[in-house]
Parts: sequence; structure tokens; C-alpha cells
Amino acid sequence: MSIRHNLESVKERIAKAALSQGRDPSNILLVAVSKTVEPDRILEAVEAGVTDLGENRVQEARGKIETLGRIARWHLVGTLQKNKAKYAVRLFDMIQSLDSLSLAQELEKRAAREGRQMEVLVEVKTSFEESKHGVEPTRLEELVREILHMKQLVFKGLMTIAPYEDDHELVRPYFRRLRVLKNQLEEKLDIPVEHLSMGMSSDFEVAIQEGATMVRIGTAIFGPRSYL
Ligand SMILES: *Cc1c(COP(=O)(O)O)cnc(C)c1O
Repeated sequence: MSIRHNLESVKERIAKAALSQGRDPSNILLVAVSKTVEPDRILEAVEAGVTDLGENRVQEARGKIETLGRIARWHLVGTLQKNKAKYAVRLFDMIQSLDSLSLAQELEKRAAREGRQMEVLVEVKTSFEESKHGVEPTRLEELVREILHMKQLVFKGLMTIAPYEDDHELVRPYFRRLRVLKNQLEEKLDIPVEHLSMGMSSDFEVAIQEGATMVRIGTAIFGPRSYL
């Protein structure tokens, strides 16, 4: 299947899921996750209408962004190590994986040096799996309060990665948890929380039903990944 065809079909499914909730499909941003995908195929996706690209590694993204330039908005969706914060701030338009105060402080410092504002999502750990990154829900409010005081960081919302389940219904509680946390933050901090980034190829329809405003989709657009 061509990338263009896959993209159309993903967009149709997004629209259908949105409309089933009485939501406007244009309020859901599609981030095409292009990790492991070669630059020429990424370009094909952009030519087919992709406006936002997601990468999970700074090093890999760096090569691609140098090759392709700013053909779309680039999002970092994978874990960020502090020693790569400098590059992340130069390369990305949004960092979706902010999950600690020390990383926020490092990004703030680096962004100030670059003289730029950095849009961030706070990644929340909504499951009990040990391996997942993200801030614990009980520490979320405290972290967001700190970020709101930072001059260079622009808090745009929350992100989560649900555990993989063959039965997609089983991921619903994680997405619902993130939405509840968003509502609580809006109430407690009296701020709008614009984005809920949740849902991947296997579960984005459920995520949209639970309020996702951003879905991160790789395989359903680019096909299965081959790790070299
Ligand atoms: C790889 C990845 C995705 C996309 O996963 P698919 O299952 O290929 O759609 C989304 N979010 C993050 C954080 C990822 O690392």
C-alpha cells in the first residue's frame, strides 16, 4: 500500500472516530511517527499532506532534519536524555516527553541560550508497568506548576503511552486517566490544557473517543518498521 493511500485511510478513521463523539475531526492533529523511516519516504508523506512528524531519537532525527529541513513541524516523542537537551531544543518544534523537573530546567536553560520558546507536553505514566517513562500522576501538578513559571517553556498539554494490548478496549482506562488528569489540572491551576497526545496505530480510535487532540501514528502510515 502506498503512503498516500495509508494516510487517507488513517484520516478517514480519525474523522469517523471524532464524528462518533460529535467532535470536529479538524481538531485532531495527526503526528506521523517517522522513526526508522528513510527520508525519501518521509518526504512522500509530507507531499501527501502530513504536517507534523514525530521522531523518538535525537540522533536519528538530527540526520533527517539536516537532510529534509523544516518540511513539517518536528516532534520529539521518545525519551530525552539531559545531555541531548541542547540538540533537542535546536531541532524540534515540540517536545512531548518532558517528565522531570531536572529535564525541564535543562530545556529552559538551553532554550534561553538559543533564544527560543519551546513547546512541551508532559509525559504521564498512566500504567503500572515498570518500563514506561513519564511522571507519576501524583507528581504531575507540582511539575506543571514549575513549568508554568519558566519563561522559555510553553506548556501545551499531556502525553501518554498506553501499554500494548491485543484487545484495544483494554487501553481505554489509560486514556481516560489522562483526560481526568487534564480536567483536574485545568480546574486546579485555572489554565487551559490544549493537548492530549495519546493513541498510536493500534489504538488511536479509542484514544480519540477518550478525548485525544493529537494522535501519534507510525505503522499505519509507513508500514511495519524494519530495525537495522
Ligand atoms: C513509535 C511510536 C509511536 C507510533 O507507533 P505505531 O504503533 O507505529 O503507530 C507513537 N508514539 C511513540 C512515543 C512512539 O515511540
